[in-house]
Amino acid sequence: MNVPGLHKFLFEGCAVRGAVVRLTAGWQEALRRRASVGEFPLPVRHLLGEMTAAGMLMQSSIKFDGALILQVHGDGPLKLAVAEVKTDYSFRATAKVIADIPPAARLSALANTRGEGRCAIVLDARKRARGTQPYQGVVPLHDDARAPLEDFSAVIEHYMLQSEQIDTRMLLAANDEVAAGLLLQRMPSSGLGNLAAGREENLVGYHEDFNRLSLLAGTLTRDELLALDVDTLLHRLFWQERVQRFEPVATRFNCSCGRERVTRMLVGLGQPELQDILLEQGRVEIGCDFCGLQYHFDAVDVAEMFTPVRDHPPAPSTLQ
Ligand SMILES: [Zn+2]
Repeated sequence: MNVPGLHKFLFEGCAVRGAVVRLTAGWQEALRRRASVGEFPLPVRHLLGEMTAAGMLMQSSIKFDGALILQVHGDGPLKLAVAEVKTDYSFRATAKVIADIPPAARLSALANTRGEGRCAIVLDARKRARGTQPYQGVVPLHDDARAPLEDFSAVIEHYMLQSEQIDTRMLLAANDEVAAGLLLQRMPSSGLGNLAAGREENLVGYHEDFNRLSLLAGTLTRDELLALDVDTLLHRLFWQERVQRFEPVATRFNCSCGRERVTRMLVGLGQPELQDILLEQGRVEIGCDFCGLQYHFDAVDVAEMFTPVRDHPPAPSTLQ
């Protein structure tokens, strides 16, 4: 079971579950593709890696068919960072940088310079009814005492506590080779037995098993999270616990962009705007922010976009 990907597990006899995610080749591919249209500064790359790992861990812990999208809306040099993870654990990520970024910038210097940075957690169901909006939860990039959060994991822990009232421990780390994360979560208990015996166990922060396991998880360093394979990592932290492992799931980089979608977007810009670009540059060029793929449209392509399509084309006059 010692392979990259997403590894779920639970602790036998405790109402605590967890997951480890380790992205290697897919993460490197995401960075390589992006580099073809302009590499992000190092702190942004690593934030995107942590956001992607966090998206994987959150996607693994909910029953949901669709795209889980994490968005940091920044008030500093990083205007936007997006990581999207679908139900099949395919992912993509991108960012919008509007000013210079210091080489060792952490979250507040990137996206929370005036205390107005936000993180949105969006669940966009695959079968969302037409006209309905995806679910969206928003948390600030500071804690309840307004102290800025410097780790993206703390933002997600804060969100889980606020919106789900579930004890959550998340550790994240990323460099240019690996994006990795560890999640521990108390499972919500239910039933009469729990009502009788549960007492305060269901209240946030009162679950003894969770607190013990969370303390153990907290001994893991970022370097260890990046360097250790999953078996070694789980053994290093929980060798005294009875851990039940599940079959790992593969993860992959995948961008859902395509010429049709880009065309729809261009049609939205309108013909006069596109004609101006054609006059100036000879063709319309659009690069995908996620995967770097370049789409080109010449004058004929643009004319076609605005030619009304008939529902039933006339039958050809000859069948030769
Ligand atoms: Zn793309």
